[in-house]
Amino acid sequence: MGAVLLDLTSFLCWLVGSYLYAGLGITLGYHRLLTHRALKVPKWFTYFITLGGYFALMGAPLSWVATHRLHHQKSDQPGDPHSPKDGFAHAFYEWWMSGEMAEKQPPAEIRKQIPDLINDPFLAWFGTEHNAKQAQMCLWINVAVRVGILLAFGWPAALGATLGSGFVFFGPQLVNTICHLTNHGYRNFQITDNSRNVSWVAMWALGEGWHNNHHAIPRSARHGMMWWEFDLTWCAIWLLEKVGIAKDVVRPDLKDALARNRALAALRAAELSASEAEDEELALSEAVTVTASK
Ligand SMILES: [Zn+2]
Ligand SMILES: [Zn+2]
Repeated sequence: MGAVLLDLTSFLCWLVGSYLYAGLGITLGYHRLLTHRALKVPKWFTYFITLGGYFALMGAPLSWVATHRLHHQKSDQPGDPHSPKDGFAHAFYEWWMSGEMAEKQPPAEIRKQIPDLINDPFLAWFGTEHNAKQAQMCLWINVAVRVGILLAFGWPAALGATLGSGFVFFGPQLVNTICHLTNHGYRNFQITDNSRNVSWVAMWALGEGWHNNHHAIPRSARHGMMWWEFDLTWCAIWLLEKVGIAKDVVRPDLKDALARNRALAALRAAELSASEAEDEELALSEAVTVTASK
């Protein structure tokens, strides 16, 4: 009985621990920190949290960031790497499984997307291009890490770690599909793309399902903006700021953003000036405040 309880405790600790480490690795590391520069942290923390995302089979951080920046630039338009307008299966897995990204985003285009990161030797070590070599390297490193956990801590730990990070793996795929489907969730901001806030995806993906908020104000470190929009990644960033690890945290200026959203909706309804609506949407995306460095 005691041994079973010990196995169960080990399994649950590794399940939750892996879910949080790999999950925050993607949401806080790959996404809000590297892609959107929504906060500043010391180098050691950047590397530590990015590794978490790599352990969720997310592939090389730099090519991930390049793809995601492209997604924001072309969201739900031709050239978007994974819009469900090109089919649910395409947005869920075909875009990364088919190998088409090597053509859609060649090395020169990747370099253009990530001038701020490409020269970082640690991040670049995992690969800087969309190719089979970096995907296989990611797969084998992930397998080796699980075998290491199995040998060092036993099968309940290895099973917990695999399930925890496996659960995380589907978070970004759900965001890419469900959170861009017009028959799901709701919108706070009437922006051009189809992004939606979907609560169950937000719970699954540590706050990333508040995707319409994120597309409206991409630089914000906080994605859950209304009181009911729980955002675990934001809680982690808030905590990191409190203990002095995170600084220059970008927060949404919600009053300004909502006023701009009303103006945007009125311009759209009037259908008078597309360029004015475009300017308003751009101003909305910059409705942020940045906490001063201490
Ligand atoms: Zn999106
Ligand atoms: Zn983003």
